[in-house]
Amino acid sequence: MAKLRFILGDHLSRRVTALQDIDPQSDIVLMAEVGSESSVVGFHKQKLVFIYAAMRHFAQGLREEGIKVDYIKLDDSGNSQNLEGELERALMRHHVEAVVVTEPGAWRVREMMDNWQTRLGLPVEIRDDDRFVCGHGEFRAWAEPRKSLRMEFFYREMRRKTGLLMAGTEPEGGQWNFDAENREPLPAEYVPPRRLRFEPDSETQAVIDQVRKRYSSNFGDLEPFEWAVTRDGALQALDHFIETALPGFGTFQDAMRTGEPFLHHGLLSPYLNVGLLTADEVCRAAERAYYQGDAPLNAVEGFIRQIIGWREYVRGIYWWKMPDYSKSNVLGAGRDLPWFYWSGKTTMNCLKQAIADTARHAYAHHIQRLMVTGNFALLAGIAPAQIEAWYLAVYIDAFDWVELPNVHGMVMFADGGLLASKPYAASGAYINRMSDYCGNCRYSPKTRDGEKACPITLLYWNFLVENRHTLQSNPRMKMPYRNLDRMDAAALANIRARAQGFLERLSATKDEADDEPQ
Ligand code: FAD
Ligand code: SF4
Repeated sequence: MAKLRFILGDHLSRRVTALQDIDPQSDIVLMAEVGSESSVVGFHKQKLVFIYAAMRHFAQGLREEGIKVDYIKLDDSGNSQNLEGELERALMRHHVEAVVVTEPGAWRVREMMDNWQTRLGLPVEIRDDDRFVCGHGEFRAWAEPRKSLRMEFFYREMRRKTGLLMAGTEPEGGQWNFDAENREPLPAEYVPPRRLRFEPDSETQAVIDQVRKRYSSNFGDLEPFEWAVTRDGALQALDHFIETALPGFGTFQDAMRTGEPFLHHGLLSPYLNVGLLTADEVCRAAERAYYQGDAPLNAVEGFIRQIIGWREYVRGIYWWKMPDYSKSNVLGAGRDLPWFYWSGKTTMNCLKQAIADTARHAYAHHIQRLMVTGNFALLAGIAPAQIEAWYLAVYIDAFDWVELPNVHGMVMFADGGLLASKPYAASGAYINRMSDYCGNCRYSPKTRDGEKACPITLLYWNFLVENRHTLQSNPRMKMPYRNLDRMDAAALANIRARAQGFLERLSATKDEADDEPQ
């Protein structure tokens, strides 16, 4: 029985369930570049290049194996520019008795897929995505009986399940978590490792040219485009990370430095999320480095925790709680996203640097996302849906299942603490401790009055006051509220007036730093 195997842009793994039992004699693979998916939000140009170039290379690999691939390019005549339209057109070209697809990474697409069988009038098999450690049912069974969820306990279950860094039934080194040894600022003279970047081949260059023509007004730099777009390239990136950057991963995980967006981070999320690497092989490679004495336990445990802990945990929450999850807004945040998130024109150097890194590479590391662009959005009360759309657009690794819970839950606390036990709110003092940004800023992180008062610090105290009703009973917020209550009333009133003035100016001007030399 001939089947049409529909492979989406984040299913680029030869082991993806939709391809697992393919019969090259009779089956056909359908892949389609469609405008409706590339304009859900105005994606960063490098994200578009990455996905289309990776799809084209993947299709070529299948053809080399003798598999028939029907590949629709963005500019092909007749392209309906949407997934359903391309599936319908393909069914007119090929005589097949069923469609096979792996579940997508977005609720929106899942809902659409659930209707395909009725709409198309032939069997549509939607298979689970087994590239993850934890299935949907397994996560639900873990989460549902619990009053509150903590990633740390979920992570321990995943360690036990995978056997990663386990010495029998005990965690390697006698502890589950070595974070106490991590999160140092970068010493001034420290030289981070140079990272492997990739030259585009002619196929990738053709995609770059196409994106230049079609999406010139989208956010971000198109070139240099330096991401790998094949499995071989992704494996090289993994090896290089393990050799050069993994040993310092834990220690400098939270550090930030001007002009150094990569530091000791993996740069592996785009490859993991589209299927060029698997979570299992990445974690096993890190574990091997530990047992061979090439990387310390604090680094390897910290890295593995991000993947089998956080990555699996946010995915579990997404599929458990959608579609209602995205609608909550516990802090009632509703301010428009400031234009500087797109232009990078702001007087706040921390934001300017994080947005510049994002524009240049379609990448910023976790702490830039959480504690700079995320922290500002939380403190300024940006409408969750607007800041979510920004993250989905600008990061090369952003897919709904992973972007949404990170922004909605971890950054915006819009779910009231389902995902994270407290809001990650911080004043300028945190950014000053973990980066060199404040040294080159017109503001001063500890200053709360006068011209040099740091907007992040002002907004931090204002945020605590404005959200007291919701947050003060949270046990993890006791310390910030104790500090707030120690503050002199007149000083606090002045901080609040300044914070309000800042927010009003932000709403009134398109670019907060229009009058600033850039
Ligand atoms: P490393 O720092 O080297 O971490 C190793 C791996 O751990 C990553 O490749 C990633 O697969 C995984 N990981 C780490 N933290 C998380 C997390 N919180 N959630 C899921 N996976 C995690 N990650 C995405 O893959 N896509 C997103 O759209 C995305 N959006 C985010 C938005 C916000 C506001 C925040 C705070 C985090 C977001 N993350 C997202 C998580 C994390 O920031 C990125 O996975 C990481 O920066 C990717 O770079 P890296 O490969 O160098 O990561
Ligand atoms: Fe950001 Fe404030 Fe530091 Fe400036 S002083 S970089 S605004 S935290």
